Parts: sequence; structure tokens; C-alpha cells
Amino acid sequence: MTSVTKLYDEDEIARRVEELAGEIAGAVSGDFAIVALLKGGFVFVADLIRVLGRHGLAPTVEFMRVSSYGAAKESSGKVRLIGAVPEEVAGRAVLVVDDIVDTGRSLAYARDRLLEAGASKVWTCTLLDKPSRREVEFTADFVGFVIEDVFVVGYGIDFAEQYRHLPYIGIIE
Ligand code: 5GP
Ligand code: MG
Repeated sequence: MTSVTKLYDEDEIARRVEELAGEIAGAVSGDFAIVALLKGGFVFVADLIRVLGRHGLAPTVEFMRVSSYGAAKESSGKVRLIGAVPEEVAGRAVLVVDDIVDTGRSLAYARDRLLEAGASKVWTCTLLDKPSRREVEFTADFVGFVIEDVFVVGYGIDFAEQYRHLPYIGIIE
């Protein structure tokens, strides 16, 4: 039977998002665009932009969809762009936001596409980081939680399109 064990509850996530927004506000100022990676980053970015707003930051928000998993628990090793890179990034500073850095391929790919599309600067932010799983050299500028090699769901993050609605982050077994 499938079970989900809580890893970070709602309060822990909210506190960390609060701190992360402070870190971002200390490093980023002026006009910038957030590019949230779909689908996994959608809950995180919704919380993050509201806290950033309280820090006086008012980024515009764009979305970009990349896929590396399909319905499996292991990355296919190939990142696919579904749809287009938002053209609004041309000439602007960008903060690209994702749910998890695992092999490192997705965020590295997104950063490279955004630079190609003319972004003047790209910062990267992830809620969760699994450094032990890295297959390409990649370090995010802003990291919420560093976690072990476990498979997590909730707070926007799915397994085969389920569990995105959970308000907490849990380990699925
Ligand atoms: P990477 O390209 O860094 O290997 O993978 C990043 C993407 O893989 C994440 O954005 C996320 O969508 C997916 N991923 C990595 N680890 C997990 C996990 O533990 N659970 C889920 N549901 N997705 C994961
Ligand atoms: Mg993702």
C-alpha cells in the first residue's frame, strides 16, 4: 500500500518560504520576472510571490513547462520543453523557480533557454534540493530545504499526477 510520511508541515514550509523571500530580497532588486516551472513549482511560486510582495518586490510572473519524468519515479535523463520560452524575459533579470533540483538537468536547462531568449541575468531558486542525486554540475542560488535521496510529494509536487493538493511535503513509499 502507498503511504505518505510527513517531511515538512505547512508551518515549516511557510517559515522557510518567508526566510527564502528575505534572502531573495537581499540579493535581487528593481524590475525582474519570475519564471515558474510547471507543473511542480506552481504552489511554491504562489506562496513565494506574496511574501516577496511584503518585502517590497513586485516581479511579473511567467510560466515555462519542462518535463523530465513522465509517470515514473526516475528522471528519464532528458529534459523536454513543452510549449515556449516566455518572450517577456528578453532584456530582463529573471528568477526561475522550481520545486526540486534532483539531477540538476531541469533547472540548468531552463536557465540556459532563458539566457538564450535574452534574459540579462538568471537567478535560480528551488524549494527542495537533493545534492546527492546530481548528475550535472548545478548549484541553485536560493534553496529552501536540502533533503536526502527520497521521493517526495505534496505542496504542488505529484506522483503520477496525484498528491499535488497536499498542504505538506511528504515522502511516498
Ligand atoms: P532534475 O532535472 O533536477 O533531475 O529533476 C527535477 C525535476 O524532477 C523536479 O522539478 C521534479 O519535477 C522532479 N523530481 C525530482 N525529484 C522528485 C521527487 O522526489 N518527487 C517528485 N514528485 N518529483 C521529483
Ligand atoms: Mg519539476
